[in-house]
Amino acid sequence: MTDFTSLGLAAPILDALAAKGYTNPTPIQQKAIPVVIEGRDLCGIAQTGTGKTAAFALPSLHRLSANPKPRRPKACRMLVLSPTRELASQIADSFELYGKNLKLSVATIFGGVPIPRQIKQLATGIDIVVATPGRLLDLIDQHALSLRDVEILVLDEADQMLDLGFIHALKRIHRLLPTKRQTLFFSATMPKTIADLGDSFLTDPIKVSVAPPSTTAERVEQRAIFVNQAEKQALLTMRLKSDPIDRALVFTRTKHGADRVVKHLAAAGISANAIHGNKSQPQRERALAEFRSGQSPILVATDIAARGIDVGGVSHVYNFELPNVPEQYVHRIGRTARAGADGVAISFIADDEKPYMRSIEKLTRVKPAIDALPENFLQEMARLPKPKADERPARPQGQRPQGQGQRRHDGERSGGGERPAGGPRRRRPGGGGGGARVGAHKGAVRRTGDR
Ligand code: AMP
Repeated sequence: MTDFTSLGLAAPILDALAAKGYTNPTPIQQKAIPVVIEGRDLCGIAQTGTGKTAAFALPSLHRLSANPKPRRPKACRMLVLSPTRELASQIADSFELYGKNLKLSVATIFGGVPIPRQIKQLATGIDIVVATPGRLLDLIDQHALSLRDVEILVLDEADQMLDLGFIHALKRIHRLLPTKRQTLFFSATMPKTIADLGDSFLTDPIKVSVAPPSTTAERVEQRAIFVNQAEKQALLTMRLKSDPIDRALVFTRTKHGADRVVKHLAAAGISANAIHGNKSQPQRERALAEFRSGQSPILVATDIAARGIDVGGVSHVYNFELPNVPEQYVHRIGRTARAGADGVAISFIADDEKPYMRSIEKLTRVKPAIDALPENFLQEMARLPKPKADERPARPQGQRPQGQGQRRHDGERSGGGERPAGGPRRRRPGGGGGGARVGAHKGAVRRTGDR
């Protein structure tokens, strides 16, 4: 079996891997690391869970440290673009971990935290910047950062970048990059639009791919239950009480849907956190930390917020609503069955979601087993406590009222267009508006060797 030593990585990086307990590279790492060390461009088809972060982080750290350069003010040597804040944070953590024996600085740049602090961080120059595209462009527009010194560019989760409407931001960033650079491009799927985007960034790339999404889908035990939209909440409550759960992720299609689920569960005595784009950065981080530690083992999430969440031990994924993009289903159920462990994915399917299920089955080539509704479902449902009307989630500060939906730089669609498939259109509580989202600061400059 290949071990990390044979891939040509420098000793300080091998030491960090050994300290973490990683001995054998994953398939994407075996394929990508030698290519990247050689300085070639890379086009990788791989999803989270395959070890793709280390596949680009390890050889990049190797190259940067093999050719040390003084930092230049308002410049960086490596830029990693991520579609979401959570993924950006995790990538930065990985750089820190793998580079802990090197003296390279890492900064995480994303929206939702105060910009002046990020401007200050970049002032003296940074080796590695991990950023979401929107905030990166804001900083460039404020002359806080120039991309002219970028030697290595990573575009991670390119398919998600396009889904989130980052295409124009990416094109702008592309124009600001030096032509002489190394580019590493990763995507879980490679339809033509993504391949075209890759072509515009890459020069004579080596292509590597591992475990197409269907493989993950085949490892997860998939189940489905046909249920009316209005009865899903009761069904979820009953299943969460009866299923042997270690950690469960519940997916809703909308942010308000996620909040509603949390309220209903609370009324039934089940504590859960929600994670989505209307939550402040500290709220998101707390929810993730409590999920990780097992303190709050049920997390209700929208697709975007859950992208890239890397938490082991997720035993159950509940699709409270099915996604209308079949690939999203694969991403969702890939949150369980990570690192070879098996997991269960259970989809609640209302009548008007059946066409979504058919597209999903076509993609995954897996037909879920059908579960019956719990015994005495209707009687049990009638007995469940419901949240009082005034306990319904209030709109968080700064959130737009329905009907003014627009894409935000960091991901999720806000406001209108959020009604779940088949879900009743509910009147929103009034209020909201105004308040700026000021989060606890996560995007600090960190020196890889400081820990
Ligand atoms: P990623 O696909 O980058 O999200 O990585 C998935 C998980 O695998 C992360 O928790 C990594 O820390 C872990 N991981 C990455 N490479 C290895 C390896 N060679 N051996 C064991 N675990 C790994």
